[in-house]
Amino acid sequence: MQSFYRLDERERIAECGGDWDRFALDNGSTRSLSKAVQGRPIWDFVEGIGMSSYLGAIFFHVRRTGEGFESSYRCDSPYRARRFRMRTEPCGKGLLLIHCLVWSAVIRDIGEDVSGEGAVSAPRCSVCCRFLVEGAWIDPVADPGRVFMPSEHCVCPDCKAALRVQLAE
Ligand SMILES: [Zn+2]
Repeated sequence: MQSFYRLDERERIAECGGDWDRFALDNGSTRSLSKAVQGRPIWDFVEGIGMSSYLGAIFFHVRRTGEGFESSYRCDSPYRARRFRMRTEPCGKGLLLIHCLVWSAVIRDIGEDVSGEGAVSAPRCSVCCRFLVEGAWIDPVADPGRVFMPSEHCVCPDCKAALRVQLAE
């Protein structure tokens, strides 16, 4: 599964394609269909100052160096974990972001409603999708017996540090 979107010089979504719409529909999200997102700033779809800063640092780096940059992130649902590779390329005055699914794993079978009682509500890192529970960052794949729900969106210290290292290389 691969999708892309092109941002204009003001970081509005100018175009998106590939498997974009199929992925949106797979996730039951008609508000993310390409016709609904085109023309809107990418920042409308980024939750939390942590992730805005993280992406902003990548965009700045690509614009400054004029070279592509490769990163990866998790995009999980309560049922399935997925890792994507994201390539950010300069594209005229804008940027081209190419997302490619590189790994996925089942967390639990689809069936019961996981959003109710018993779910652990905790801050979630928007890059690695781990949850901060009692001082530890927990990957839901490693703890399938519990259901985690994001109470807020942030970027964990490990992901911030890894990006800093990669940007300095
Ligand atoms: Zn993280």
